[in-house]
Amino acid sequence: MTIPTVVLAIGGFDGSGGAGNLADVRAIQLSGGYPCAIVTALTAQNTLRVDRIERVSTELIRRQFRCLVDDFQIGAIKIGLLPSVACVETLIECLESEKLNCPIVLDPVMRATSGDALADVEAIEVLLQGLVPLTTLITPNIAEASKLTNRSIDHLADAIASGNQLLRMGCQNVLVKGGHFERDKGTDIWCYQEGYEVFEPRERQEGTVRGTGCMFASAIACHLGQGKSVRDAITVSKALVSHVISEGQSFGQGTPVTTLGIKDQSF
Ligand code: PLP
Repeated sequence: MTIPTVVLAIGGFDGSGGAGNLADVRAIQLSGGYPCAIVTALTAQNTLRVDRIERVSTELIRRQFRCLVDDFQIGAIKIGLLPSVACVETLIECLESEKLNCPIVLDPVMRATSGDALADVEAIEVLLQGLVPLTTLITPNIAEASKLTNRSIDHLADAIASGNQLLRMGCQNVLVKGGHFERDKGTDIWCYQEGYEVFEPRERQEGTVRGTGCMFASAIACHLGQGKSVRDAITVSKALVSHVISEGQSFGQGTPVTTLGIKDQSF
């Protein structure tokens, strides 16, 4: 086997396996990459609620980063939950010190599907000023794009305006995910310097599966690391997420989780 692209997923640990690093790992493997991870926060949560979050120290974040970049050639980075200003600042410092020269996809996680807050609001400003300019692509859902750009997003035109505003803050591409649109549910808008493109879902899907945002961004990062264009990386990753939603299973008591890619036979 040829050596797979190493994809570094930076984010929170959700022990229920629905979201965070564990979901990232699944998406990266399903996309043909080798996953490695930096944990920014440990959470106690299940499919119903987030019970507690403990931030990992900035020193340990720095050391996790150093260990991995000293050893592996990182082919792509996916960034998820950054719970605090200190965490965002530390990551910016790490990325600026190393110049890894690989695509960086930022999923600006703020809240869980359950409604529980995951990150401090103060972290948003630092993220916009320092981290967004370092990214290849940022993948907010409409609630996150709305928070980041301080405008309400009800229609596709609002999402385009919000995406363009984020581009002016220095990232190369923005994908505003429309999974929560009332009318255009599942329609995503990709904004780039020269224009925008609309990605329609193959079918309008009902319901929610945990971790779809994490998996979407991780799959895109992996495909970019493998050399695909942004357009192609979004297209294949959107197909993966659509499978995740259609195969979602409720074996907890709350929001369904994905079982895509689980083999039902032993070696
Ligand atoms: N927990 C962690 C650690 C996460 O990173 C995220 C999302 O990125 C969530 C929970 C929320 O996931 P969901 O909205 O799918 O419940």
